[in-house]
Order: sequence, then C-alpha cells, then structure tokens
Amino acid sequence: MTFTIGIDSGSTATKGILLEEGIIRRRFLCPTPFRPADAINEAWETLRAGLETRPFLTLTGYGRQLVDFADKQVTEISCHGQGARLLAPATRTVIDIGGQDSKVIQLDRDGNLCDFLMNDKCAAGTGRFLEVISRTLGASVEQLDVITDGVAPHAITSMCTVFAESEVISLRSAGVPPEAILAGVVNAMARRSANFIGRLSAQGPLLFTGGVSHCAAFARMLESHVGMAVHTHPDAQFAGAIGAALIGQRQRKRG
Ligand code: ADP
Repeated sequence: MTFTIGIDSGSTATKGILLEEGIIRRRFLCPTPFRPADAINEAWETLRAGLETRPFLTLTGYGRQLVDFADKQVTEISCHGQGARLLAPATRTVIDIGGQDSKVIQLDRDGNLCDFLMNDKCAAGTGRFLEVISRTLGASVEQLDVITDGVAPHAITSMCTVFAESEVISLRSAGVPPEAILAGVVNAMARRSANFIGRLSAQGPLLFTGGVSHCAAFARMLESHVGMAVHTHPDAQFAGAIGAALIGQRQRKRG
C-alpha cells in the first residue's frame, strides 16, 4: 500500500488529501489561520493518524515553503492540472477560482500542461469579491444558490471590490431586491471569468475547480457566457491537494 499526502496551503483555505494508489482515502479542510503553518501541521497530523509508515508529503499553494518537513514542494499550476484529471480524466481546460486568485489551465490530450493564466493581482473575480459583496447584503456565499434561485440578475457595472460594494449599497437603497443584486454580482463575475477563459484558446471538457465551484448558480452562469459545458465535482476544491498527492505518488514509484 502506497499512501501519499498532498497539502494545498491556500490564501483562504488549507486543503489536504490522503491518497492510496489514486484513491482518495481522507480529506482535510480548514480556513487558513493567522499562522498558515499551524493548519499545515494539523492537516499532516490528521491525515496520517494511525498509518503504520510515514506517507510521502507534497506541499503546494502559497504557504508551501512555511514548514520544513515536506518531501517535495510543487507549484499550484502543476498540481491543479493533475488533480483535475483525477477528478475528470478527459479535462482539457481547468478554471480554478479560489479565495484570492483565479487561474485558467490548458492541458493536452495526455494531461500535460500546455499554457496557463493567473490573476492574483486584484480581488475582482475571486471568492473574496463574492464574500465581501454577499456580506454587504447580510448573506454568506453558502446561501448564494438558494437566494439567487430563479431570480433575474440586475445589471452590475463595477467589478472592483471597493466600487462594487458602494454600487450594491446604492442599488439596495434605490429599492432593487437584494436577491437580484446578488444574482447580478454572480452573473458579472461569471462573465468576467468567461472572458478570462477566452484569453486562452480553451477547449472542452472544462472543469471548474476551487472553492467558488461549490456555487452551482455561478457554474450555470459561467456556462451561459463561456459557450461550452462547465463540469464541476464535489471534490473540486481539493484539486490542488489531489494533484500534490498524485505527484508524490509518481515520485515515490520512480524512486
Ligand atoms: P484558496 O486556495 O485561494 O485558499 P479555495 O479554492 O480553497 O481558495 O476557495 C476558497 C474560496 O471559496 C473562499 O473565498 C470562499 O468564500 C469560496 N467559497 C466556498 N464555498 C463557496 C460557495 N458555496 N459559494 C461560493 N464561494 C464559495
């Protein structure tokens, strides 16, 4: 039995996976704390608890260099592509929308990385944007699907977090229903993500990963703007950690 662990120390959430020969055996997820290394330690201890031998550990994400006990550190782009292929083996394009960045990754038929784009300069188009705007209206991102179900989106013009926040407040005081504002925010962000995907000559199948992929309304709106089917997976937030564990598994087999 070959167990490997992949930990993705993200800006917003820390994810971990225990993999046994390509099968996910355990998952770990927690908000990234003030000291990200604390969450990496907790993930490591939780995922390997009770195992007889020490699993190979691969780290990825922003915090991957914060602890010194990893066997390997890998960039997020490589991990996300490989993790996506475990979840949906035919995937050719990955759109990952996390807490503070978004990325689009293009893969060839065999799953090798061809090209990628990353937006980590501004909160627009990230989970953080959705969080701030939802909070401004007294909602949480987990409620977005229920709140926006069957609601026609109101037009939102600002995508900068600061301007969008004041636009949302003005719309609410002008009497626009908050659910239409939220649907409008999701729609505007989905349109922006579709444009981002369009900057690469992306082809399907397209897998939507990262924490924001939990929002089914977002996936639907993204699909309408991007013009191809948008696939998601219940483990899509773990794609980076899965990829890290897979890379460790291959290295272990080689070595
Ligand atoms: P990172 O790797 O950058 O830390 P993740 O891919 O783990 O980010 O995603 C975290 C983000 O996902 C957070 O901004 C969070 O608000 C968002 N998120 C989590 N659940 C949902 C949901 N149901 N709808 C929309 N966004 C969500």
